[in-house]
Amino acid sequence: MTRINHELFNQVNNYMSQAFIPYGRQDIDQNDIESVIRVLRSDFITQGPTVGEFEKSISKMMGVEYSVACNSATSSLHLACLALGLQEGDYLWTTPITFVASANCGLYCNAKVDFVDIDPKTGLMSVKELSKKLEEAKAKRSLPKIVIPVHLAGTSCDMPKIAELSKKYGFSIIEDASHAIGGYCNNYPVGSCKYSDITIFSMHPVKIITSGEGGIATTKEESLAIKIKSLRNHGIIRNKEMFVTEPAGEWSYEQQDLGYNYRMTDILAALGLSQLQKLNAFIEKRTHIIQEYKLNMVNLPVQLLEVPENIKSAYHLAVIRLKNNDKTFHRNVFNKLKGKGIGVQVHYTPVHLQPYYRNLGFSEGDFPISENYSTNAISLPIYPTLKKQDFNRVIGELKEVLS
Ligand SMILES: *Cc1c(COP(=O)(O)O)cnc(C)c1O
Repeated sequence: MTRINHELFNQVNNYMSQAFIPYGRQDIDQNDIESVIRVLRSDFITQGPTVGEFEKSISKMMGVEYSVACNSATSSLHLACLALGLQEGDYLWTTPITFVASANCGLYCNAKVDFVDIDPKTGLMSVKELSKKLEEAKAKRSLPKIVIPVHLAGTSCDMPKIAELSKKYGFSIIEDASHAIGGYCNNYPVGSCKYSDITIFSMHPVKIITSGEGGIATTKEESLAIKIKSLRNHGIIRNKEMFVTEPAGEWSYEQQDLGYNYRMTDILAALGLSQLQKLNAFIEKRTHIIQEYKLNMVNLPVQLLEVPENIKSAYHLAVIRLKNNDKTFHRNVFNKLKGKGIGVQVHYTPVHLQPYYRNLGFSEGDFPISENYSTNAISLPIYPTLKKQDFNRVIGELKEVLS
């Protein structure tokens, strides 16, 4: 086929088959577009006043003293680890059921990474497993310096209990809340750092709100905020009161640490700021979709992830668990749905089974609950603009596949 014919063929093919429904997507409206254009017409397009405004809005909404925006949640996680002093010889623990970035941030700091298995009902880091592992680590003098609970699918981990353990065993807590902006734990907004040192949000387009690419670290500790701000900008300090040498002049700045260029731009902050105004509306729509899934699944051999009573989930993902616990069945259900144009996903393949982590010594059987989870979990489409007719198509295909 010539190139033109090939394109024509694809167009006709797309027209004839039903449109693909992704598992998640951004919702950008005219206000978002105008917000970005305003910045493009202004004097600042790189990190400037809009980044500051975005940070202030986040702090206000979360009821937290400091927010620092970076160019991704991954870079925010990296800087959070550095600010808490993570280094070679230290341990960082997280959960296997997460995106690789929650673990990689420890390796960036040359620390050793280990995992805590999950609670099978919620998919979240199990407090029972954590307690057990901490007690064993204490005996071996290998306690973690940092623990990163991950609020999978928008549902906060049991933070009061994890905070209790942090006091008992002396570790710091970074909440990976990449999925959970807009969620609550015991009526405290995720991001308030009521139960942690630092909380991280992601503004990747597939997450709850987007700035294109972007991450935010929130904290109550001024020293941590100052450190993260400096590290996102090469380790440079501009406040002369903090200089360690005599300034040569007005123009002087000092590089006191080895930092990075992890800055967010005003263009992206303008999008984030505009999206933030719609956070509550987005969460309402997501909550509604989950309720609809629940209603339509009563008679199906599947179950949504559980949300504990004291938690208000941001419902980033609609994860179902197949009751028929068989790898082949799982793969078949996934492939059939995908074949029908339903953008299913698996969140996640356990991180310790990624080839890079296997090379570090992890292997199958290390975290059996997580491994079992990944062979019966499927994420169904959920996003604010999911149309009723598309939702019905998802349910229809699911019923068909499971019948
Ligand atoms: C998306 C995600 C990240 C990384 O976010 P980026 O902004 O893309 O760097 C980290 N952790 C979890 C759990 C995520 O889902």
